[in-house]
Amino acid sequence: MIIVNTDREKYFYDIHSLVKSFYPEEDVLVFVKNSQTVPEDSKVILTIDILLKWDEGHIDATFIKENGDTRSLSKTCIKESETDSADMTDSPKNVLKRLLYEALFEETKRSLPWGTLTGIRPVKIAMHRLLSGDDDNAIKDYMKKTYICSDEKTDLSVEIAHRENRLLEGTTDGNGYSLYINIPFCPTRCAYCSFMSSPIGLWKGQVDKYLDCVKKEIDQTAPLFKGKRLDSVYVGGGTPTTLEPYQLEKLISWIKDSYDMSSAREFTIESGRPDSITMDKLITMKKGGVTRISVNPQTMRDRTLELIGRHHSVKQTVDAFNMAREAGFDHINMDIILGLPGEELSDVEYTMNEIQKLRPDELTVHSLAIKRASRLYDYVADHGLAGMDTTSNMMKVAEEGARKMGLSPYYLYRQKNISGNFENTGYGLEDKMCLYNIITMEETQSILALGSGSVSKRIFEGHRIERKGNPKDVKLYMENMEKNPSPMMEFFK
Ligand code: SF4
Repeated sequence: MIIVNTDREKYFYDIHSLVKSFYPEEDVLVFVKNSQTVPEDSKVILTIDILLKWDEGHIDATFIKENGDTRSLSKTCIKESETDSADMTDSPKNVLKRLLYEALFEETKRSLPWGTLTGIRPVKIAMHRLLSGDDDNAIKDYMKKTYICSDEKTDLSVEIAHRENRLLEGTTDGNGYSLYINIPFCPTRCAYCSFMSSPIGLWKGQVDKYLDCVKKEIDQTAPLFKGKRLDSVYVGGGTPTTLEPYQLEKLISWIKDSYDMSSAREFTIESGRPDSITMDKLITMKKGGVTRISVNPQTMRDRTLELIGRHHSVKQTVDAFNMAREAGFDHINMDIILGLPGEELSDVEYTMNEIQKLRPDELTVHSLAIKRASRLYDYVADHGLAGMDTTSNMMKVAEEGARKMGLSPYYLYRQKNISGNFENTGYGLEDKMCLYNIITMEETQSILALGSGSVSKRIFEGHRIERKGNPKDVKLYMENMEKNPSPMMEFFK
């Protein structure tokens, strides 16, 4: 265990995330000095005492190891009263994080690819500075100096910021919006899954009722968006292709009948699990005007698929992909995950070679994130993280493989507890990049999100953002929708 004592509550989350990145297998406890007692049987390997004297313009910290060895560090920062933005290089927050980074780097001899950045959207920083007129070198210098980001990650952030900027053109005038519909069912539950998604078998006979509730939300909310420009439509989940062809057909027609699709640049139905994809469903989606789907292998190793409870084979992935091409889909994304249990560099090389034979139009490379709501979390609590590490070589193999297929990075995000402290990156052919993915990352326009577990986002002038969610529990969502109007009516009024 690692204990961090501070004298103020501010930046608890940042401190915790940064320390945890250096010590992923240790419990990290952050609290205001003497406000908590450490459980008696805990094995404390490091205690960090922090004095946030930013009124005086400095931060002091003492690091006490298990064997009693002690090290003290002090850094000057801009006085809090004189700081107009937490993003300033020498703001108290950034200085505090650099101080911790420096000491923990010394202690562990580990460097973090994203340095002190603990947020989920590092490209936002590059994007913000790009729009403020900084050139590429100034952005890179700022990211390295302020956050100790590696050269590789600053280059990647700047490359993606330029591409996102280009792709967002024409969508940021305040008149556009996107539509998201959630289908919270899957064939079975994967071991690493943290989404509110249930095996469709448990909902036999109730899926039509669920869709009727979504239809009610569509009918109620669509009039609020009359006169607005619909830029992208995304049906996600879950696995939307757990729906039967007739259910997909009616959902697609409700969307097309209720919203003006003439301006929509893309219409995604995230198919995902290969074991849910059939030719009938593909034809229904193609006829309905769906332009983009996903066929997600995660890995091309059967033994790993079994370990992570995917309940499908590599052959099913290949067959589903070929079927989708046969049905006429020319925009297919594939998702893979690095750091899956038992996988080594050679497994990632194998997966990339197999994917290169299929040549998807997009590839999303995830680093495994162990989430509390997943079965894998319990496994890790009992057995540790051994054999589940994303390495920089794995990241390199995936990136080189993607670039070899002519795909370029176009969006990026990070998650809590992400393996190796890396990121998830979407690669695509220049004319096959998903606008919706960028809009959700950059929060540049409102998203009307319908269905259980969905979260709508409303962007106001001055970039104020508000969110409103539907109940995650499918039963509760249906009960609410039967009795009440959609909460999105009030939210977007
Ligand atoms: S397919 Fe995706 S949403 Fe469904 S259980 Fe697996 S990880 Fe979760």
